Amino acid sequence: MPHRPYIVGNWKMNGSRAMLAEARAIDRAAGRYPDVQVALAPPFTLIGALREEVSAMGVGGQDCHAQPKGAHTGDVSAAMLVDTGADFVIVGHSERRKDHAECDDTVQAKADAALATGLGVIVCVGETLDERDAGRAVAVVAGQIAGSMPVGEGSADAVTLGKVAVAYEPVWAIGTGRVAAVADVIEMHAAIRERLIAIYGEAGDKVRILYGGSVNAGNAAELLAADGVGGALVGGASLTADAFLPIIAAAGTGEV
Ligand code: PEP
Repeated sequence: MPHRPYIVGNWKMNGSRAMLAEARAIDRAAGRYPDVQVALAPPFTLIGALREEVSAMGVGGQDCHAQPKGAHTGDVSAAMLVDTGADFVIVGHSERRKDHAECDDTVQAKADAALATGLGVIVCVGETLDERDAGRAVAVVAGQIAGSMPVGEGSADAVTLGKVAVAYEPVWAIGTGRVAAVADVIEMHAAIRERLIAIYGEAGDKVRILYGGSVNAGNAAELLAADGVGGALVGGASLTADAFLPIIAAAGTGEV
């Protein structure tokens, strides 16, 4: 792995204050693995509390609106995430793309808005099973990269500073227990890297490309060791410290 591995937990619409104990345990583990960048994206309601409780890991949002403020009931802006203590945001998760009909343009606007506030950003891409079966996986993901990556003012600097990551998450592997074949992950990450360099030039090499989709204690080591895999975006297995810690351990050289 050429970059410091980045292991990010996505709690989705799970978690209450009672789960802060899990976050504290994950944070303690993060402190023992300084060679791994660890972060959690809890629901909006827990960002502020988590920020107060943890010190070694990053805390982020799972989405933000592209506008800084206004009449958008139920939405949260990037500036609001910063205000509550977040340091990054996930945009373009396939659940957002599907449940909220978010297209590449929307995802790109959110990513640009996030970078403009100083947040780091993780842009999610990934093909459906039908698209993979039709032999279109690389073309679909290449299109998402071309349309979703931030290109606004300051984005090149953010890329150079390592504040931009991509999560390759095959839709059919998310929450299903099905994991992409390592050879397919390697092929896709190489294709993504090519597109990133086409967009950002040499700086495109600074973007970490995470794999996501049913990563767990049993498969993390193999996936994280694969060529071009710069970390993992983890859903279900990030909900408890017991499930998440072995993934952090697989990425690093510290000791749990
Ligand atoms: C995700 O939510 O991004 C994800 C990859 O979920 P899971 O690890 O549960 O498949």
